[in-house]
Order: sequence, then C-alpha cells, then structure tokens
Amino acid sequence: MRVLITGAAGFLGSHLVDRFLRDGHAVVGMDNFITGSKDNLRHLDDCADFEFLEQDVSKFIEVEGELDGILHFASPASPIDYLELPIQTLKVGSLGTHNALGLAKAKGARFFLASTSEVYGDPSVHPQPETYWGNVNPIGPRGVYDEAKRFAEAMTMAYHRYHGLDTRIVRIFNTYGPRMRPGDGRVVSNFIVQALQGKPLTVYGDGSQTRSFCYVDDLIEGIYRLFQDGGADPVNIGNDGEFTVSELAEMVVGLVGGDSKIVIEPLPVDDPRQRRPDLSVARRMLGWGPTITLEEGLGKTIHYFREVVAP
Ligand code: UDP
Repeated sequence: MRVLITGAAGFLGSHLVDRFLRDGHAVVGMDNFITGSKDNLRHLDDCADFEFLEQDVSKFIEVEGELDGILHFASPASPIDYLELPIQTLKVGSLGTHNALGLAKAKGARFFLASTSEVYGDPSVHPQPETYWGNVNPIGPRGVYDEAKRFAEAMTMAYHRYHGLDTRIVRIFNTYGPRMRPGDGRVVSNFIVQALQGKPLTVYGDGSQTRSFCYVDDLIEGIYRLFQDGGADPVNIGNDGEFTVSELAEMVVGLVGGDSKIVIEPLPVDDPRQRRPDLSVARRMLGWGPTITLEEGLGKTIHYFREVVAP
C-alpha cells in the first residue's frame, strides 16, 4: 500500500508513519509544522519508502501518484495548543478534513479520521460507549477542538453515505509516550518534565478529575488494526484503566524519584470531570486491547524525557 498521513511530524502521526513502514508500506507524510517537529521524522531521512510534503491540509492539497489510504492526523491536540490556535484548530478539523476526504475520493483511497474522546465533552455517561452523543459546550474555549472533530466525523460519514467512500473513525482517548513535546502542556508530559526538573507538579483543580491513559504503542496498534479490519462507525481506542490526576502525580513522582511537591492551579474551563473508554467494540471487532500498564508506559516515557530534558 501507499498511504498519506497528515500530521506526520506530530506525536501520533510520526508513530503511525513508523508502523506502516514497518510492515513494508510506502508512506507520504504531510505536515505544516505548526505543532509538529522535524525531529520526529529525522530517523527517516534515508528511508526510501518515505516521502515528505510540507503542506497545510487546510488549504488545497496535492499528492502525485496513487494512494490506497489517507489518514488524517493533522491537528493541534493539546488544550494549550488549541486555545492558542483556535482558528487553525477549527480549520484543520473542518476544511482540512474536507480536503483530505476530497483527495481520498479522487484517489479511490480509504479515509481514516483521527477523532477524539473530546466529542463526548464532559460526559454524563460513564464509561463512554461509541453510542453516547456527548455533552459539549459549543461556545466554550475547548469547543474549537471538540466541535471541529464532531464536524469532521459528520463530514466523514457524509462522504461514506453519499459518495460510498470507504471510511474509518477512531476516537482517541488520552495518549502519552515518546515524542510528546516537553512543552506540550498535557498532563503526562507536564508532570514528567516537572518531576525531572525538581519543580512542583501543577495539579489543576482538586485533582479528583479522572482520565484513562494509553501508551502510544498500544494506541497505534489499535489504529493500525482499525484501518485494516474496521468499519465506518466510530471506534474508541485507548486504555480503560482510570486514574485521578492526583494519583497520576503521585505515580510520576514515585517513578522519577526526587522530592517534587504538588501545587494546585485553577481548573481550566469545561475540563471534563471524568473520562474512560468503553472498549467493547474495539475488543470484539479488532481482537485488540491495551497491553501496557500505566506504570510500565510511564517508565518508558520517563526514559525518553530524561534524554530530551535538561535536569
Ligand atoms: N492537568 C493538570 N496539570 C497539568 C496539565 C493538565 O492537572 O499540568 C489536568 C487537566 O486539567 C485535565 C487532565 O489533567 O483534568 C488531563 O489534561 P490534558 O491536558 O492532558 O488532557 P485533556 O484530557 O484535558 O484533553
């Protein structure tokens, strides 16, 4: 196969590039480096099966040659990023998805959308099955990401129903691992970097809000299987172990060592109280489930950050 991956220089995009290359496929990566990094692709400089195009998927995109798949992973994905880049976030989810769908239709390629657990907003159903429609504030600061992804899902289903395009939608829950930016702003990278630098860990609110953290290798394997074996309906991929933010902070301090304290900072607007994927569909349809515990995954991630962050 030859596939296009948008957001290829990002955290998930770059791991996905590696996964396709590992199985002998050819990959075209696309990124505009708003939040992606050239460092994430540097190891592919001499890879004959990888080409890179610096293009903004929110504008008209062009790719020469045949494509069997288009995986649309371009988007700011950390709350601090999409609060800083609200218009770009809305554009890449809406116009970018439309362009990528149009290219998939022109090439007769399978289209794969990276959606998010944020489509469930601050969920009133717990854990969240794919059938839950969500509880999103459309005009809140997080709405730029949530609504862009909801629109992207609607657009993908419209192309599937109206044009008969072969499509997939994954709803990605909190994911962590190597290649997250040290300044990414998400909780796992923040806590690890703070602990490594002996700084206090910034817990937002009272720390009782929960998240379910998936190690990147597990997530990428689920996505790879969904691309090949899934159907058009959205599928949750993540880890269903649920932790409070305070528990995460304690675990990170324990694993890094040192004596970092915890400081309380204000809870961001519309921060979801709880989040945990119902993984029944993924387990049944893909024979997939997460295999890496939080402790194990944090260990690998700490190892990575020790190399990139000065103490
Ligand atoms: N959070 C925190 N300290 C930080 C960064 C995040 O307590 O330094 C909290 C945040 O308020 C949220 C959770 O950790 O409740 C996960 O935040 P993240 O930005 O990683 O992702 P989200 O799931 O909110 O998109």
